[in-house]
Amino acid sequence: MTNLPPKHILSKSTFMRGCQCPKSLWLHKYQPELKDEMSEQQASIFGMGTNIGELARDLFPGGVDASPDTAYNYQWSVAKTAEYIEAGHEIIYEAAFQFNGVLAALDILVKRRGRWYGYEVKSSTKVKAAFIQDVALQYYVITNAGLALSDIALIYVNNKYRRKGSLDLEQLFCRQSLLKEAKELQKSIAETAAELTEIVFAAQVPQIATGKHCRIPYACDFYGHCWKDVAEEINEEIEQINKKELNAFVKQLRYPLSFMDFETYMLAVPGYDGHWPYRQVPFQFSVHKQEKKGSDVQHVSFLAETDCDPCPEFVEKLIASLGKAGSILVYNLSFENTRLKELKEDYPKYKKQIEKIQERLVDLMVPFRKKHLYLPSMNGSYSIKAVLPALVPEMNYDGLQIGNGGDASAAFYQLREEKDAVKIAETREALLKYCEMDTMAMVRVLEKMREML
Ligand code: SF4
Repeated sequence: MTNLPPKHILSKSTFMRGCQCPKSLWLHKYQPELKDEMSEQQASIFGMGTNIGELARDLFPGGVDASPDTAYNYQWSVAKTAEYIEAGHEIIYEAAFQFNGVLAALDILVKRRGRWYGYEVKSSTKVKAAFIQDVALQYYVITNAGLALSDIALIYVNNKYRRKGSLDLEQLFCRQSLLKEAKELQKSIAETAAELTEIVFAAQVPQIATGKHCRIPYACDFYGHCWKDVAEEINEEIEQINKKELNAFVKQLRYPLSFMDFETYMLAVPGYDGHWPYRQVPFQFSVHKQEKKGSDVQHVSFLAETDCDPCPEFVEKLIASLGKAGSILVYNLSFENTRLKELKEDYPKYKKQIEKIQERLVDLMVPFRKKHLYLPSMNGSYSIKAVLPALVPEMNYDGLQIGNGGDASAAFYQLREEKDAVKIAETREALLKYCEMDTMAMVRVLEKMREML
């Protein structure tokens, strides 16, 4: 292929990065090694589920793909797009354009009755401010590169969609034109592009203080680097034990106690009837039970099979495991309670039993969130992963093959594809151990709390 444009200076993603923080753009260009290591949870979320962008292509079937032939060869893509347009193709996926050193690749470009329409696909369930900026940049590059657009719209996920039978793409996706917003932003996009181009060529890192922009609209991957001094200050907090509040917390508990935890997975594309995009689907629970104060604990657990909707068996087994009386301790009540509420709506025949369970819930996280019990070794966090080692140092999640909820859902998701019986057995064992650890942690944390009183 001939006539490749010169390598771009800004891509859409570096432009968006620079809009959030010029320092992040500069570091990304010159010191990428300072980025935070991607947590396993993030990595597993990235790797999980159907690619929404590819699925949305089926709304406009039969197109040609201008994706780069190798991961970074976007100039090839720009030339290929021009070739496809020239050849009369009317649906182009990953159509790439370049103007003034800025590169933009649009998910779907469509020609209807002689006019061009652009679509950008997001896996989000709403139109966020950052997307408007994103679409405005696409519009800026495409129109200045010489292609007039009659409209540019966002395609995103409709979280009101409830699956019934085979997947209905027209229902799964929403479309919203952002042409008016994109046009209004053209002047500021041109200015920002010029400013960010200067940043890219700057000899030194721009001086930018940390702030809310480090998390909004996206969590910056230089967070650890820029915030390390701030984190040290937080660690200097002092021990706090509010015995009156802790006593009141413990006194409300009724035996037999149940310590309960759910694991869920979440997919953009609902897999079963009645499910919706990004539903937290419960597939596992662990319950530790204690008949009376100081007595031994018994353990019950459930881990769904991977070939069917886990919800019906989950709810049935859960009800059977919890009995009819006593407090049910959870860590972060709103999570378990919301799952129960959803199950109640799905299975009206269990409505009464689920309501009784909801009435018995007590949130063990509250005394830690309110700092009625706080130790500096909790590092400013009230997550069970921080509270447990601070209170019960001999117990932690370190030795576990699955050590957090994100890994648990990724592991369960991957089990669906796994054929090797040994690996299946190992993963199921690791999942059971992890969830059991979560409820055992609650047992020990409550014990410790009582000792401190
Ligand atoms: S952590 Fe904050 S200040 Fe540092 S590069 Fe990221 S956004 Fe900028």
